[in-house]
Amino acid sequence: MATIGVLGLQGAFREHMKSIEACGHDAVLIKKTEQLSDIDGLVLPGGESTTMRRLIDRYEFFDALVQFGQAGKPMFGTCAGLILLATQIENDADNHLGLMNMTVARNAFGRQKQSFEAPLDIKGVAEDFEAVFIRAPFIMEVGNDTEVLATYDDKIVAAKQDHYLATAFHPELTDDHRLMAYFIDMVEQSKLASV
Ligand code: GLN
Repeated sequence: MATIGVLGLQGAFREHMKSIEACGHDAVLIKKTEQLSDIDGLVLPGGESTTMRRLIDRYEFFDALVQFGQAGKPMFGTCAGLILLATQIENDADNHLGLMNMTVARNAFGRQKQSFEAPLDIKGVAEDFEAVFIRAPFIMEVGNDTEVLATYDDKIVAAKQDHYLATAFHPELTDDHRLMAYFIDMVEQSKLASV
């Protein structure tokens, strides 16, 4: 059994906790940096990336999160969480955690498509995953070491690089837990590899 943390500073963390529990694993709401040592993998939820970053700085999470990733612990960023993981953000000189090799565009689907649902074919996960997009970013470019898992309208909306997983949409807002199960599988494999 894996213990999965969900960063609980802002955003849709409760829904992720429910999704982890629905997969039969323990979910821990992470409010303090010390808790990171108790978990095997971490979800960075959707919400608002600028606000989340402000809270990360206020509660002195920044270095601890970077170290968590650099130690090889799996991280799953959804929507704003994807923006936090990226090495580069379009039209912005600054990035956040800079752990996953990709350039992302924020609020990138335009006004007409602020929020929408679309069925996605996600490599290794599902051919019919109903994805909920809310003021979603997309991935403009990935590095050689980053694998594209899904596209929508020719835009990259899910990717994986080693122990990092990122989606532009919110998998926690439906009852389809296959993507969370995929992440938990990544966590279990990394646990096995570290013993
Ligand atoms: N648009 C938000 C941002 O830039 C992300 C939206 C979301 O997480 N649903 O942070």
